[in-house]
Amino acid sequence: MSERVTNSVDFYQGNNPQDLIRQYGSPLYVYNERVFREKCKTMKTLCPYSGFRVNYAIKANSNLTLMAIALEEGLKADVSSAGEIVAALAAGYKADDLFFIANNISEDEMKFAIDKNVILSVDSLSQLETYGRINRGGKIAVRFNTGIGGGHHEKVVTGGDDTKFGILTAYVPEVKALLSKYELQLVGINHHIGSQFAQELYIDGVVTLLNIAREFDTLEFVDFGGGFYIPYHKQDGEKAFDLKPVGKSLAEHMQKFSAQYGKELVCMIEPGRFIAAECGVLLGTVHAVKKLGAVNYAGTDMGFSVFARPTLYDSHHDVEVYRDGEITGAEVLVNIVGNQCESGDYIANKRLLPPLKERDVLGVLDTGAYGFSMSSQYNHRQRPAEVLIRVDGSVKLIRRRETYEEMLVNMQGL
Ligand SMILES: *Cc1c(COP(=O)(O)O)cnc(C)c1O
Repeated sequence: MSERVTNSVDFYQGNNPQDLIRQYGSPLYVYNERVFREKCKTMKTLCPYSGFRVNYAIKANSNLTLMAIALEEGLKADVSSAGEIVAALAAGYKADDLFFIANNISEDEMKFAIDKNVILSVDSLSQLETYGRINRGGKIAVRFNTGIGGGHHEKVVTGGDDTKFGILTAYVPEVKALLSKYELQLVGINHHIGSQFAQELYIDGVVTLLNIAREFDTLEFVDFGGGFYIPYHKQDGEKAFDLKPVGKSLAEHMQKFSAQYGKELVCMIEPGRFIAAECGVLLGTVHAVKKLGAVNYAGTDMGFSVFARPTLYDSHHDVEVYRDGEITGAEVLVNIVGNQCESGDYIANKRLLPPLKERDVLGVLDTGAYGFSMSSQYNHRQRPAEVLIRVDGSVKLIRRRETYEEMLVNMQGL
């Protein structure tokens, strides 16, 4: 077997995955603080432009401890709902640190953000009109759809006509009309082209958004979105992209733009997955093995209520096997599935692994982003606990597993 990806980065720092499961239960999200901090630093130093600001997209992982660490590392936050505003404030962020990228929100949710002094971006003329009506004279940002989109799956491409996001560039005159009708100050414009896009596309997006920025003279910031690529196929030797050229190009475009605009605008980006994905491994346990015809199955406790990305996007995640005894036998193809009542409930299909046994512990890699945050209570299964391996190697419980009783408290019997 090839060297474990987790060994190559000393992910467990001396902790044994089976012991973690014994102590905290299965399944379990395990995060590594050192890896998380490294990712924050990489982003923080990406772009040599004085007004550069990194907003961590907390929808990727909004555990209070991780959010607080990102804040310590100098990151601000991108929030996508009123609930995320509450969570970010609880983690220690100030209203000024937050940018709310809203999509089809109610008037109440808008009012909530306004009351908390959090700047929000609207992504339709209809929402701009609503905002103007309830907050005449206020500050607002607008999300544009520049027609540039890209990503790892059609469900995460967020630019172009076939997505629901943003105001098309052709509507700049209508945006201006609404701004003046309600005496609004447009303080920022933003876009987000998708997740796991090609690097060149990002810079195309920067150029296009800056061209729109020239149409408005009241701006304080431009925000180019997140979606930075992470290598999900590390077992096949996939390496991370060198992001430095993107950062350098971004700085050059911003400097040139600022000189023409006559003012240094703040330049924001919104990485979510890049910050959080690689600091996380989801541990789960094999409870059943079987063969249906020629297909081997390993049945685990990692259903899509615990980890939804494979079911939702057919995402690939590398899987490692941990066993107290020796791991032996010629590798076979196996489908690793969950315990829920849907045939789409799977973690990994057709993986070459040594024959699996009951009680084997599996590690699903790069699950720190869109793992716990997309988990649910489907089938009345508890969402897992989360633990953090501190920089010194000690383990801290940062979310305990919920109880069955807690899952009932908001309901009323007949
Ligand atoms: C989801 C999202 C992000 C973060 O995307 P990642 O792929 O996790 O970097 C950033 N901005 C917006 C508007 C988003 O919807």
